[in-house]
Amino acid sequence: MFDNTQTTYSHAYLIHPDFQNIINAYKNQIDDKLIAIFNAYNNLPTLQDKQVVKNAYLINNDIESIADITKAPIKYSQLPISISTQIKSFYDELWGDNKILGYSIVVNSCGTVKQHFESFREINEYLVCPFCGLDSLLCEHDDGRDDYDHYLLKSKYPFISINFNNLFPMCHRCNSKNKNQKDLPYNDLTTIQRKFYYPYSKEINHTINLTILSPDIDLKDSAKWKLEVNAANPSYEDCKETWKDVFEIETRYKATISKHSKSWKERIFLKHYKICKKNQRNYAEFEEDVLDDFKDYLNISNGILMKAYNEFVIKDPNCEANLNSTMVF
Ligand SMILES: [Zn+2]
Repeated sequence: MFDNTQTTYSHAYLIHPDFQNIINAYKNQIDDKLIAIFNAYNNLPTLQDKQVVKNAYLINNDIESIADITKAPIKYSQLPISISTQIKSFYDELWGDNKILGYSIVVNSCGTVKQHFESFREINEYLVCPFCGLDSLLCEHDDGRDDYDHYLLKSKYPFISINFNNLFPMCHRCNSKNKNQKDLPYNDLTTIQRKFYYPYSKEINHTINLTILSPDIDLKDSAKWKLEVNAANPSYEDCKETWKDVFEIETRYKATISKHSKSWKERIFLKHYKICKKNQRNYAEFEEDVLDDFKDYLNISNGILMKAYNEFVIKDPNCEANLNSTMVF
């Protein structure tokens, strides 16, 4: 589209054979929009204007380089107005159940978005949301589906609405309430670009360490204790801060711990009763058992928090004495 070799729009030259049928079948919805982009591009007055459009296409699709801030994404508002409207209209048509992804010719050859989401979830063995670790993802047994989140907002950045490197499975709460329309590369208050995790990177270390800091074992009142959230690899501290901000991690994690800590505590008491009192095994075995519980926490709802809670309880120097003196049954 942008190589300046064609003076008139040509299906045969510009459209990959895989897409010819779709475009022919939905002329009004797609073909007319492609022609409008082609004409708008060729009518741009300067080479610089054309270069901005080309850069937007190349840079915005390189999400990993935007995530580590080696490249800055280009917004719709930075494109010449005469072409930004046409590009937005086309890309708006691509994503969504009632848009091109829901059209019969696409569904018949590629399946529905729900089927794609389910395959993706199954292959990657995701049971809980990979962004918060709190809620289960909906699966084939549920009505509806969870969301593929547009990591870079499709409303703000051109050319990325159907790039699968920009689409991530996410629970409804993360997608619709916490992240929603927040802009990952920039927070609302500053124009300084910030780093963020690129979840499909093979090199990234996502591990997060959580530490509960409280003088009291009772965590019901979330104002009375602190939660430390650290990136296991300190070079990802900036990414972690963006993740915390965008997904409102601290507030959500503290609220969930406060809500569940009583039942989690009772679970530990019960385990102590079974291991140490009923089966007469020593305290060290109980301790090891508790710390082992959520070692592989990623696929358990709230597992990341229960792991931190168990560590908090066991770390208390009075833990053994408290458990021995407590009658829970
Ligand atoms: Zn989530």
